[in-house]
Amino acid sequence: MFPARFRYEAPHSLDEAIGLLRDGGDYVKVLAGGQSLVPMMKLRFASPDMLVDINGLPGLAYHRADPDGTLRIGALCRHSDLERSELLAGTQPTMAAAAPLVADPLVRNRGTLVGSLCHADPQGDWASVMLALGGSVIAQGAGGRRAIPLADFVTGPFQNVLEHDEIAVEAVVPAAKGARAGGYLKLERRVGDFATVGTAVAIETSGGIVTRAGIALTGVGGSTIGCPEAAAALTGKPLSAQTIAEAAELAAAAAQPRTDHRGSAEYKRQMVRVFVKRILGGNLPSTTGQTAERAA
Ligand SMILES: Cc1cc2nc3c(=O)[nH]c(=O)nc-3n(C[C@H](O)[C@H](O)[C@H](O)COP(=O)(O)OP(=O)(O)OC[C@H]3O[C@@H](n4cnc5c(N)ncnc54)[C@H](O)[C@@H]3O)c2cc1C
Repeated sequence: MFPARFRYEAPHSLDEAIGLLRDGGDYVKVLAGGQSLVPMMKLRFASPDMLVDINGLPGLAYHRADPDGTLRIGALCRHSDLERSELLAGTQPTMAAAAPLVADPLVRNRGTLVGSLCHADPQGDWASVMLALGGSVIAQGAGGRRAIPLADFVTGPFQNVLEHDEIAVEAVVPAAKGARAGGYLKLERRVGDFATVGTAVAIETSGGIVTRAGIALTGVGGSTIGCPEAAAALTGKPLSAQTIAEAAELAAAAAQPRTDHRGSAEYKRQMVRVFVKRILGGNLPSTTGQTAERAA
């Protein structure tokens, strides 16, 4: 199918883009990688009056670490940039594990992490990774800039809190206070598919004690699911078979899977349990112990 008619604008500055969003009418959409928006327009699930293509905006294609270790990912940083990133490979095990598991190489060459967060697909991989890491989104609009924690950014399936004149310019991962470890595992029917079950785990340790933990789930509910109880079961304790088993149980309990053609609800819940144990069992404190395998 072809999309409905729409006006297309390709601004050259952020101010111009924000002005187009503010003045452009009732239904204006930002176009980043187009890997979710264009298919939705072709299927007529979305029929915006205007697209504001941000691909010509300068200075948004970066990912970099501040001196204190805060990671910043610009709105035009592609999935493939993150897949090939030495910075991520060395410092962000959960993100480095997830990057090669997002879609297929063609999609990864165009799609963006920030676009994926904005799209808020319950089966999107980056939202659970960023939620586990305590990340946030920086939005810029006519009224200025604001930081929105991931936990508040996604309000439901395909919904976020951006105002109609705001652009998400950056995603931010806070600096780790301890040694980072973690991973992302994804069960998919075939390579390149959306997650049947995805599990993101990010921990920080200091002196053998887990000082911060985040666990979040992809594809097992109506939106990305954070698991604060499972994270709390790890925090303040050394990693052990017992704490890992407890966290795995609580994460499985937090999942809200439905039985469908991809598997039964109980099977999906069991995969959450297995993934938490597998990631944490293979990720004793180290910044290099990443788990980048696809699940069979
Ligand atoms: C075949 C296929 C397989 C896929 N498989 C997976 C998968 O396994 N896992 C996965 O996570 N994703 C998957 N995707 C989706 C892919 O990751 C997309 O790249 C991503 O969801 C959206 O990023 P984008 O840059 O392409 O955004 P776009 O498609 O350009 O935009 C998506 C939405 O976000 C909004 N938006 C984008 N950027 C901004 C911004 N900076 N500010 C405000 N609003 C913005 C748009 O207006 C639109 O509503 C797949 C896509 C395809 C086509």
